[in-house]
Amino acid sequence: MQPAYKRVLIKISGEGLMGSKPFGVDNVVVSKIAKQIKDIRNMGVDVCVVVGGGNIFRGAKEAASGMNRNIADQVGMMATVINALFLQDALQKQNVKTVVMSGLRVPQACETYIYRKAVKHLDNGKVIIFAGGTGSPYFTTDTGATLRACEMGCDAILKSTQVDGVYDSDPKQNPNAVRFDEISFEEVVQKQLKVMDLTAVTLAKENNISVVVFEQKSENSIVDAVCLQGKFTIIKNRG
Ligand code: UDP
Repeated sequence: MQPAYKRVLIKISGEGLMGSKPFGVDNVVVSKIAKQIKDIRNMGVDVCVVVGGGNIFRGAKEAASGMNRNIADQVGMMATVINALFLQDALQKQNVKTVVMSGLRVPQACETYIYRKAVKHLDNGKVIIFAGGTGSPYFTTDTGATLRACEMGCDAILKSTQVDGVYDSDPKQNPNAVRFDEISFEEVVQKQLKVMDLTAVTLAKENNISVVVFEQKSENSIVDAVCLQGKFTIIKNRG
């Protein structure tokens, strides 16, 4: 299989690290993800990764139950740092040179995100896990991921989810839901499809970064997505 892209950003949701657990991180799942990242790196693809924090904490959800939103989002961003450190450990065990760079400063645990340093790490062949989102509240990790993909000049964002692409309605609720093979950013907005938040969609559209949405479930799903194999939806600018 041949990779379709030279430099990618892989977005894994916090939920994607839980496996069958109700909460937290499943080490077997994390090591399977790490193995695939190694395979992709060995294909010569530059790899950036963003891991969400939803398996531990979601700021907006806690704010809805009365917590100060700014503080809740800081906790959410810290959750993404925790997940990033788990993934870094799994990658190091497989001898993949990896650095965690955080938008929220946690200097004892990982590097603080600095654009020029990040570029250097990628040029040196390291996998970068971007943690801590944008470092600011009121954003999602999808937006943080899209921002870093823009900054790093990624060709595509590979968004790993619990469903095998973007549907016209929720396939878990509607058995007749139809999956798109390809869809434009405009259609995602017009049809109000809940694939990423609007800020992330707009940023990806304006910077012409395609988003490949695929299901994390299968053993080789991330490698398949890099090679545009298997089932997925690609969101891109048309014309
Ligand atoms: N978050 C934030 N700013 C950012 C990125 C993330 O405040 O730039 C916080 C927010 O509270 C969010 C949490 O981090 O709920 C975890 O991210 P998210 O819910 O997007 O994770 P995912 O759904 O991908 O697991």
